Amino acid sequence: MERMAPPLSSSLYRGRLAPSPTGLLHLGHARTFLVAAARARDARGTLVLRNEDLDRERSRSEFYRAMLEDLHWLGINWQEGPDIGGQYAPYSQSERGASYLVAFQRLRNTGFIYPCKCSRKELALAASAPHENDEDDPIYPGTCRPQPGQPESYLRNLPSSHSASNWRFRVPDDETIEFEDRHFGPQRFIAGRDFGDFLVWRRDGVPSYQLACVVDDAAMRITEVVRGADLLKSTARQILLYRALGLEPPQWYHCPLVTDASGQRLAKRHDALAIRTLREQGKQPEELQEMMAAAGN
Ligand code: GLU
Repeated sequence: MERMAPPLSSSLYRGRLAPSPTGLLHLGHARTFLVAAARARDARGTLVLRNEDLDRERSRSEFYRAMLEDLHWLGINWQEGPDIGGQYAPYSQSERGASYLVAFQRLRNTGFIYPCKCSRKELALAASAPHENDEDDPIYPGTCRPQPGQPESYLRNLPSSHSASNWRFRVPDDETIEFEDRHFGPQRFIAGRDFGDFLVWRRDGVPSYQLACVVDDAAMRITEVVRGADLLKSTARQILLYRALGLEPPQWYHCPLVTDASGQRLAKRHDALAIRTLREQGKQPEELQEMMAAAGN
């Protein structure tokens, strides 16, 4: 297990687990969730479970059930949520659409976001190799970005419907976004270079992960976000959203990623290292700690 920074000492600590039911949880999730649970426990705080099921195409009820079983098997408990006969149900993002819409309207009315008509294909063509910052999120080339100094009428004339097109957050070019990570230490990303104008709402009517995550972490009064290091750059994006929405960001603790035998980061297709597979092989939760130490860095 990696070195852990001292947890926040206040019992006002609120942490969360935020799995997406789009595949089986694997060793990497187990590590992150065990760290999150330990930090909440050590701080005598509250842990919240949030089912991140906004991706309607990929979310499956069988993965949702497997996630609950796996968390239970790992001995992870959460202390809040709708009561379903003596148990806490997770909060589900698919039921929180109204909150995301309020945030969307606020960003729209304050000019932080703009509609984007670019197709996936256009974006793929525009993402020539040198600009590619990470595999699934090339820097947006700015095709639909409004020019600076738009007249007031520009805001009034923006489509009011969130589902007419994609909507992007206009990042402050060249601004350095800095934050202190409680595991990795000081972090800095440059807006417009490390990441570009990112999606906040998709034309199919669904908010992006970035927006939903910020709205939920703020609404659930999360004081420390524990998640995988693959989301470090997303934290910089989310800090911009907190600022635009006038919300106080939480503390951050990113966990090192667990890799497979060839050093590749684990994905949900790594069924061999799925918690369920290990469980079915008769492994005990304690044995996972050793495997994580061996597979991790
Ligand atoms: N739902 C995201 C995932 O499963 C995690 C998001 C987060 O922790 O902020 O990768």
